[in-house]
Amino acid sequence: MKIIKTLVGALALGLAAMTFGASAQDKGIVGIAMPTKSSLRWISDGNELKAALEAKGYTVDLQYAEDDIPNQLTQIEGMVTKGAKALVIASIDGTTLSQVLQQAKDSGAITVAYDRLIRESPNVDYYTTFDNFKVGVLQAESLVKGLNERFADQKPWNVELFGGSPDDNNAFFFYDGAMSVLQPMVDKGEIVVKSGQLGMEKVGTLRWDAAVAQARMDNILSANYSDGSRVHGVLAPYDGLSRGIISSLRGVGYGTADQPWPIITGQDAETPSVKAIIADEQYSTVFKDTRELAKVTANLVDTALSGGKPEINDEKTYNNGVKVVPSYLLVPVSVDKSNYEQIVVGSGYIKAEDLK
Ligand code: BGC
Repeated sequence: MKIIKTLVGALALGLAAMTFGASAQDKGIVGIAMPTKSSLRWISDGNELKAALEAKGYTVDLQYAEDDIPNQLTQIEGMVTKGAKALVIASIDGTTLSQVLQQAKDSGAITVAYDRLIRESPNVDYYTTFDNFKVGVLQAESLVKGLNERFADQKPWNVELFGGSPDDNNAFFFYDGAMSVLQPMVDKGEIVVKSGQLGMEKVGTLRWDAAVAQARMDNILSANYSDGSRVHGVLAPYDGLSRGIISSLRGVGYGTADQPWPIITGQDAETPSVKAIIADEQYSTVFKDTRELAKVTANLVDTALSGGKPEINDEKTYNNGVKVVPSYLLVPVSVDKSNYEQIVVGSGYIKAEDLK
């Protein structure tokens, strides 16, 4: 009887352990808060991070907030309540998390801002991302390269500008990086912004919403280009927005021999946008290997939780309003029709058959 009881007890314990996802080497819970599933990159970031942390023996609580700020807050509070030892957060609004991060700190957890800086909180321990200023520089350089290729004889070039979401710190880095290349050309009269809309307060796109970008492009076209003048280039900071802008342009007849596509930039190397690059609709994108970002982040979390000193390569760029957050920056790569096969397909990021 005693043996049976012991066996039943052991079985119950085993079952309980399985239910909570624990294993012999369970190192505790890591909460991962991702902004949305509406963009492919965040889905792969979440999956890669989860797999990398599980392989190291952590139990992962992965949540998506569908771009809803209170929803993300509730999810992070839930992770703290469950006793997460680390939080990895790609925030929706980088300024709204101070209170929950204080709770996390009080419970002894570490917080890593993932890809997007979390602002106005002392309780952000690390930041892993790409060189975001460089992303903007690459976008603008490829815009100018494309303008020279396609419209060399049509100077000055009419270019319209789009920015990312004003509640995402990255959006300012992308825009500032791009304008470090474009502003001198505007000043010299080589580039004309016919709408007159410059500066993040005019060109920002709340929540990176493609429909918002498309509607703004519709307005710009009808207010400034109804006289038959042509748009030669569009600075777009993210592939989703680029696709909205392309729809708008298609609606007024762009994409023919007489009315060629403007040079349109992007970011993230999303499959539909790489297809658009192959079809000559979008000119370029910026590839950021999010698999690498996930790997670096999982290593950083594991090192910090094991009492070690994580590898950092930037301690000056990212001031979150309270402190400079120790960061690890990865290198972004410009991609267009000439190198997508080598960079995006060659690295296994997108399968060749998915581009057919
Ligand atoms: C990311 C970009 C992404 C954008 C929209 C930014 O914070 O750095 O890779 O395109 O958010 O999701």
